[in-house]
Amino acid sequence: MAANEPGQPDPTPALTSRNLPTPTSALAIGAHPDDVEFGCGGTLAKWAADGCTVHHLILTDGSKGTWNPDADVAALAATRQVEQREAARRLAGERAGEVVFLGQVDGELESTLALRGEVARVIRVLRPQVVLGHDPWKRYRLHPDHRHAGLLACDGIVAARDPHFFKEHGLPHHRPDRLLLWEADEPNHVEDVTAFVDAKLAALEAHESQFESTMKAVDTAQMAAFADRIRTRLAGIATRYAQPGDGMTHAEIFRLITDL
Ligand SMILES: [Zn+2]
Repeated sequence: MAANEPGQPDPTPALTSRNLPTPTSALAIGAHPDDVEFGCGGTLAKWAADGCTVHHLILTDGSKGTWNPDADVAALAATRQVEQREAARRLAGERAGEVVFLGQVDGELESTLALRGEVARVIRVLRPQVVLGHDPWKRYRLHPDHRHAGLLACDGIVAARDPHFFKEHGLPHHRPDRLLLWEADEPNHVEDVTAFVDAKLAALEAHESQFESTMKAVDTAQMAAFADRIRTRLAGIATRYAQPGDGMTHAEIFRLITDL
């Protein structure tokens, strides 16, 4: 669709910010192993290279991530934890922090009060400066885990920041400075990841169990095509938002919320 086609919404929303200062620590909250790498892998790799400690919180066990009806789902869940830890290492290297798994059943995640408490507990323990997660308000999103994971990230921040929520944690409250939501319904922030596309791809490629069902790639040529699709997507964002002389060729885009 042409950008200026009459009667169509402008597909290039105006941004209000770009390139946050590198935080000291970040916590990315994903529904499944691999969601964080898809959503914000380039940004996390960039920050880690500049000294940020990068933590992961994965809410479900990823046990539905196969097209094989006879798969051993317990073994798959164990494999996906190994893959997620390797992805975190590839993204952040020495700056890789904790990788926490809440182990909820894939496909059955709900934004309950109990899980909100568990997310708040992780935020209070790790005390990230920036939290990243799924945008729960992305319109027409089908996968319920992604909606609920987004709500849990937002609601977990509110619970973690206020001292009278979940006092039974016995932990000091913690208010992150910023929240970045990926797959944003109304993005307002861009991160230049030009030098970190390879790191994002390397982290995605740690999720070997997902090559068939998610990457749609079962051989070298198809993996190369997957990498090309990711590069093209990030380049498309950069093309829309680059400013003269900024050298940005690849970018990730978010909804930035600073009023936490
Ligand atoms: Zn997912």
